Amino acid sequence: MRKPIIVGNWKMNMLRADTKAFFEAVEPVLTGDEKADYGIAAPYTNLTTCVEHAKHLIVAAENCNEKDSGAYTGEVSVPMLQELGVTHCIIGHSERRMYYGETSAACARKAKRLFAAGMTPILCVGETEEEYVAGKTVDVLKEELEGSLEGLTPEEAAKIVIAYEPIWAIGTGRSADQNTAEECCRTVREIVGGLFGKETADAVRIQYGGSVKPENIAMYMACENIDGALIGGASLKADSFKAIIDAVK
Ligand code: PGA
Repeated sequence: MRKPIIVGNWKMNMLRADTKAFFEAVEPVLTGDEKADYGIAAPYTNLTTCVEHAKHLIVAAENCNEKDSGAYTGEVSVPMLQELGVTHCIIGHSERRMYYGETSAACARKAKRLFAAGMTPILCVGETEEEYVAGKTVDVLKEELEGSLEGLTPEEAAKIVIAYEPIWAIGTGRSADQNTAEECCRTVREIVGGLFGKETADAVRIQYGGSVKPENIAMYMACENIDGALIGGASLKADSFKAIIDAVK
């Protein structure tokens, strides 16, 4: 049985006082016995505050560098995150692929480094609107998954979390309908199966992301191949995140 994982992705939002208030509001509704894991991916500057206030929430970074140290101005390494007590890290988010040139090959190196530290990568994949309309979704998923999972062992691939996020659904309010989300997540699982075998495909957790909110999360969670969600906008307010937890319970 795959344990669902629901992660808020704060992107470049929330100051430390907001972070503290959010954790103080959300932690009391969690017991640790939920049927799903819950977490928050926060900007680097908020991670210490997150870790200090986290009891049951997973704390994730939104990016990392694959090198351990060196002349890479502005970058943050996996050992630096590990030292803070961060356990998960998003890699390959479409915003990073689009605005900062993050490639699938870089994702593969980051994933390897995160696993070496005992951390869990949350790998994002998904097609643009143009690719969606042109019927290229499967090709895009194949290319991104093959590149981003390259060099992982089947055991590592089984432990990664993959977020299928159609770019046309991110921050647009235009969430994918249930069939599209399920079909694409099933495709992701099939591609993982082709690369690493059935056992890995059965184990890997696949999230849907793109305009997930309290009103639609249950619909996604009811799908066979959807094991959680990566949530942007609706994770910024404690009340909305609590409503998501409620809807999943
Ligand atoms: P959204 O963002 O929920 O605001 O659409 C999702 C994401 O980018 O991970």
